[in-house]
Amino acid sequence: MHNLRINAQRLWDSLMETARIGATAKGGICRLTLTDLDRQVRDWLKAQCQALGCTVTVDEVGNMFATRPGKNPSLPPIAIGSHLDTQPTGGKFDGPLGVLAGLEALRTLHDHSHTTNAPVELVNWTNEEGARFAPAMLASGVFAGVFTADYAYGRTDRDGKTFGDELQRIGYRGPEKAGTRKLAGMFELHIEQGPILEHEGRTIGIVQGAQGVRWYDITITGQDAHAGAMPMALRKDALLGAARVIERVDAIARDLSDAVGTVGVIDNKSNSRNVIPGEVFFTVDFRHPQEKCLDWMEMQLQDALAETLTPMQLIYRENRIWASPPVHFSPELIDCVRVAVETAGLSYRDIVSGAGHDSVYIARVAPTTMIFVPSRDGISHNEAEWTSLEDCAAGAQVLLNAVLEYDRRLESRGLADARAAERGRHATFG
Ligand SMILES: [Zn+2]
Repeated sequence: MHNLRINAQRLWDSLMETARIGATAKGGICRLTLTDLDRQVRDWLKAQCQALGCTVTVDEVGNMFATRPGKNPSLPPIAIGSHLDTQPTGGKFDGPLGVLAGLEALRTLHDHSHTTNAPVELVNWTNEEGARFAPAMLASGVFAGVFTADYAYGRTDRDGKTFGDELQRIGYRGPEKAGTRKLAGMFELHIEQGPILEHEGRTIGIVQGAQGVRWYDITITGQDAHAGAMPMALRKDALLGAARVIERVDAIARDLSDAVGTVGVIDNKSNSRNVIPGEVFFTVDFRHPQEKCLDWMEMQLQDALAETLTPMQLIYRENRIWASPPVHFSPELIDCVRVAVETAGLSYRDIVSGAGHDSVYIARVAPTTMIFVPSRDGISHNEAEWTSLEDCAAGAQVLLNAVLEYDRRLESRGLADARAAERGRHATFG
C-alpha cells in the first residue's frame, strides 16, 4: 500500500482561508450558490488546482472538474469532491470539507510526484444546498440525468433572478454538456450531520447508502360536539384517535432497527377549547435503508389506523404522497474505503446517510460512495457546526487511501483484461 500522508495543517488552513469568503459573525459561512462570494471561492479553487498542473473544466450548469492526469489517459477519472455553496446560516464544513480534502489529496499526490493509473478529478458540484434555487442537489441532478439543464436555468431565487442568468453573470456557465463526462467512480467525504460517530467515539463512517423515505397524509374524521354536553361514551373525537395513532407511529419505528418515524404536522380542525375535535389532518414521515422494511412500516401503519380508529367510530383517509427509494452505494467502492480506513488505523462503523447528498444522484451514473467524519453534538446547517482538525485530516487521509486502493484495483483489472484479450486473440488466430 502506498504511504502518502496528507498534510493536516495545510488542509485546515485551506478550510479556514476559504471560510473567510462569506464568513458570518457567529463563525459560520453564508455563501449562497452563484453569488459573487461563490465566484470568489470558485476562482480560488481553480487557481489552486491549476497551480498543481490540473486542467479545470466547467460544464453547462457550473460543475467544476479539476483533472490530474494518470498514466493511462484512456481511463475515465476517479472523482473526489463535494460542494462549496452553503446554507444562509451554514457552517464551515458542510460541503467545503469534501472539496478541500479532495484538493489536499491532489496536493499530496503532487508533493510526492505520484502518478496514478487513472486520472484523478476534483469536483465542485453547483447548488447542492438548494437554499437559493430549489431544489437541492440541482446540478449533480442534471449531471445524472434527473433534471435537464433548461430546468436548472429556469429556477428562480426570491428576487426573481434565474439560475441561468446568475451562472452566466459569475462566469461559470461552461461549454461542456453536463453528464457527458464519464467517471470511473466518485468518493465524497462529508461531515455526518448527525450524532452517531461522536456518540460512539468513532472517527470514520463507511457510508453504505442513503435511506429511503415515504411521506403520508392522513385525515381522521369524527364529529364536532359540545365539550360539556356530550358524554364520554358517545364521542367521536378525531384528535384522540390521532393521538393514539401517533403513539403507534413512534412504536412502529422503535420496533425496527435503523427505522425512524415522525409526525411533524398536526392540523386540528375546530381547534377550540370547548369543542370535541371533528377532523384532524397529520403527516407521517418514515425512513429506512431497506425498501422491504419501508413496506413493512407501511403495512403496520395501515393496521394501526384500522385497529385504532374503527372501534372509535372514526373514519380516515390515508394517502402516500411521496416515496424516495433507498440508495445503495457501490460495494466495491465501500470495500476500498474499508481498506483505506484499516490502512490508516482508524476506528469506524458502517453508517447510512440520513441526509441527501450529490452522491445520491451520482450513484445513478457511476460507482459511488461516501465517507463521514463526526459532527460535534450532531449539529449541521448551523453556524456552530464543528469538526476537529484531527477528524478532518482523518477523513482526508481515508479519501486519498480509498482513491489509491481503487486505482490499484482498476490497474490490475485492466492488466487482467488485457491478458484475457491477448489470450482471446491467440485462441482465434493461433
Ligand atoms: Zn453537504
